[in-house]
Amino acid sequence: MTLLTQVYRSVFLSYIVLFSHSILNAQYDNRNLTFHQSSLSSFDGTFDVVIDPGHGGSDKGCTGSICHEKDVVLELALELGKSLQMQNHNIRVHYTRTSDEFVSLADRIKFANDLGGDLFLSLHFNADSHQYVNGSETYVGGLDFVHAHDEDHHGHGHSIIDNATKQELKKYELNNSDKMVVLKQSLDLAAMIEGGFERDLPFKSRGVKEAGFAVLKYINMPGALIEAGFLTNKKQEKFINSKEGIQEMSTCLSNSVTAFLSDLEQQYHSLNRSLVVTKNHKQKPVVTNIPINKEPKSFAIKVASSAKMPILNFDKKWDNLKAITVKKSGNTFHYLTGQYDSPEDAKAQLTVIRGLGFEHAYVTEIKSSSPKRKAIKYTAGD
Ligand SMILES: [Zn+2]
Repeated sequence: MTLLTQVYRSVFLSYIVLFSHSILNAQYDNRNLTFHQSSLSSFDGTFDVVIDPGHGGSDKGCTGSICHEKDVVLELALELGKSLQMQNHNIRVHYTRTSDEFVSLADRIKFANDLGGDLFLSLHFNADSHQYVNGSETYVGGLDFVHAHDEDHHGHGHSIIDNATKQELKKYELNNSDKMVVLKQSLDLAAMIEGGFERDLPFKSRGVKEAGFAVLKYINMPGALIEAGFLTNKKQEKFINSKEGIQEMSTCLSNSVTAFLSDLEQQYHSLNRSLVVTKNHKQKPVVTNIPINKEPKSFAIKVASSAKMPILNFDKKWDNLKAITVKKSGNTFHYLTGQYDSPEDAKAQLTVIRGLGFEHAYVTEIKSSSPKRKAIKYTAGD
C-alpha cells in the first residue's frame, strides 16, 4: 500500500466516522438537520440507476496511444448496465448516451434528475503527463461550495457550464441538509467502488476524492465520477482497450454498486425511510461561490473550521449567511463569508455575522499568492 493510499484511507475513515455521526444526529436530532418528505418515500423497490459515459461525439475526452476515452467509457457503460441488470432484479438502468454522440453536461444532469434517478454513475478514464501514473480514483461531489469551479473533470473546457445554464440547473440543487445525506451515501458508494477496484483489478486504487465537478454538483441523488484508469499508462490502456479488461472492470463495478444498493435499501427500510432526500426541495440558502482571492489582498470573515472534511451540522443559522466559501489549508477546511477590501470593512460586518450566531467569527486576510492566510483577530476573548 502506498503512503498516498494510506493517507486516503485514513482521511476516508474520518469521513465515515464524521458522517456516521451526522447521520445519527439527523436521525435522532432534528434540531440540527431537517429532512423533508422524501422522493424515496415513493421508493417502489426499484432503483433507477443512471449510467453516464463521459464525453462522446466531437468531445473525445482524453487519449491514449491506442484509444479515445469516449469510446472505451461507452463500452464500459454498456457492459456495466448489462451486468447490473443481470445481477439485480430491482434495477432499471438508464444511459445518458448509448452511441458516439455529444451530450452536453447540462443535458446529462437534467436527464438524471428529471427521471428521478436513485443513483448516478459518471464513467471516465484518466490521463497524466507521466506515463507511469496508473490506477483508479473515484470522485464524490461534496457540498457545492467546497470548490468554486465548475470545470470539466479533465479541464478539457468543452463542458464548462455558462451562467445561464447554471441558473437553470439551480433548481436541482439540494439544501445543505439533504446534501449531507447524499454526500454520505456517495462516499459509501465511492468507498465500495475503490475497494472493489483495489481488490479485483491489477491496478492500484488511488482512493476516494472530492471535487466540485459540475456533473456531480447538480445531481440530486447519490453518485460518483469514476476515473477507472489511465489511458496514458501503456499497461493500463492495453487492459482498458481489451474485452477482458472491460469485462473485469464492469463486473467489479457491478458488484460494488450492487452491494451499495443493497445496503441502501436496508438503510431505507431500517430507518423507516426517515433518511431520505426530497426532490421537491424548496429554494434554499443562497450559497454562492465567491472567488475570495481575486484581489492581491482581501479580507473575509471566518465563521468556522473543520478538520479533514467539510463537515458541519448546518443548522438554521447557516441559512442566514448570504455566501459561504470553503478554503482548504492542509487538512483543515475554513468556512469564510464575505469579501472585503479592507479589514475595517470586514470588521464592520463582523458584528452582524456574530449576531447571526457565529460568536467566534473573526476577520481573516486572504492572500491570493500564498495558500497560507494570516489571521487577523480583532476580538477580545476569542
Ligand atoms: Zn473524462
